[in-house]
Amino acid sequence: MTPVRDRLRVAIQKNGRLSEPARALLASCGLSWRESPDKLFCYGESAPVDLLLVRDDDIPGLIASGLCDLGVVGRNVLGEQMSDLRAANRDASVSELRALGFGGCKLSIAVPNDWTWTGPAMLSGKRLATSYPALLRDWLDANNVQADIVELSGSVEIAPRLGQADAICDLVSSGATLAANQLKPVEDILQSEAVLAGPVRDFDPALAGIAEMLLRRLDGVMKIRD
Ligand code: ATP
Ligand code: ZN
Repeated sequence: MTPVRDRLRVAIQKNGRLSEPARALLASCGLSWRESPDKLFCYGESAPVDLLLVRDDDIPGLIASGLCDLGVVGRNVLGEQMSDLRAANRDASVSELRALGFGGCKLSIAVPNDWTWTGPAMLSGKRLATSYPALLRDWLDANNVQADIVELSGSVEIAPRLGQADAICDLVSSGATLAANQLKPVEDILQSEAVLAGPVRDFDPALAGIAEMLLRRLDGVMKIRD
């Protein structure tokens, strides 16, 4: 059993694209922190809201296990992990509470430049490299396409050149990486941005008030940012 806490714990990315904007957004909600020497934990000073600095991939699991109460993570990462759980007939216990308006990118299908794209059916029988197998599987199923998924943890965009795959499904923001690998985006399967993730279940009574305060402040800040 996780011991009952009386301080809210929010997981954010330690090093990466979402780290600074996540912290800045929480700071604009009036929060301030004292950092631990190892810089993995920040103790909330102005409110009982502590930060845990972790890899983004760990955030949904930390919330699901109750070790953290909220987290800032890409919709792509949250969606992939929840879809993976659903595919295994397990509960998707973490949900998107708010879209945060930064970290925007698309999860897209990209194919070699010399393909004339006629639609998803073109992918039948092809090999697709991706780091998002569950989201890709959902999209292929929704489009009635049978294709092989080659799961890679990185450097997905070079897979076609290496002969590892015929096409890819990867995150795209500017498209420059795709172009450098003679690929072009043809279908968007997810519009992503950073989201505030939280448990599907209700908060512990000791934490519910703090979480409501944070969400209220966040909504106020997001309104001004619009
Ligand atoms: P970690 O070490 O925490 O696992 P990472 O390498 O997985 O870091 P980043 O590259 O920092 O993560 O990306 C974090 C998130 O930023 C992505 O999951 C995505 O939601 C978002 N993002 C925005 N634009 C891009 C992009 N062009 N490429 C990749 N991710 C992007
Ligand atoms: Zn990651």
